[in-house]
Amino acid sequence: MMERALESEARYFRYVGAVAGARPFCRERVGKVYSIEEIRGMDNGQDLAVEYFCGGWNCRHRWVAVAEDGSIAKKLQEIELIYNEKDKRQDVAKHAKKFGLSPDEYIEEAKRVVKNAKQIYKHTYLGETQYNYIGENGYVVVDRFGKIRGYYYHGESNIEKMIENRKNKTTKKWRKIK
Ligand SMILES: [Zn+2]
Repeated sequence: MMERALESEARYFRYVGAVAGARPFCRERVGKVYSIEEIRGMDNGQDLAVEYFCGGWNCRHRWVAVAEDGSIAKKLQEIELIYNEKDKRQDVAKHAKKFGLSPDEYIEEAKRVVKNAKQIYKHTYLGETQYNYIGENGYVVVDRFGKIRGYYYHGESNIEKMIENRKNKTTKKWRKIK
């Protein structure tokens, strides 16, 4: 599992398993996230690679890859977002109209959509990873630094269908995170 995770370029892992009855090495790590470098530097006192054997013989704990992008996307839902200034000037007036909102309402709604999104997709735009938060009437594009890059009307309740029907190349390359 660890090898497969590394092949998929995962670099962070959560230590998973029970706390009750765990040896000190395991107990103090359960639930925590470590980089692969940190894991390789750990010593379970048994000459067994922590990366594969965790706490050592009979240890039932395991390392679970943390989807890096997934955790960024979720973190962005918890923080205060800002609307990218450049996009704000260019886009807000134009797109706000499609939602029947004033520019201020549009920005507030975009922030709410991100906070409440049950579905998140990612795509790459000019080499930069961006996240798409799906709302009832539109989707919000946020970059990995917490800037809203746009809130776009989709007028479609079935997002899978929307992606399917769109000719827009960016939308076609969306990959589901949540
Ligand atoms: Zn253990």
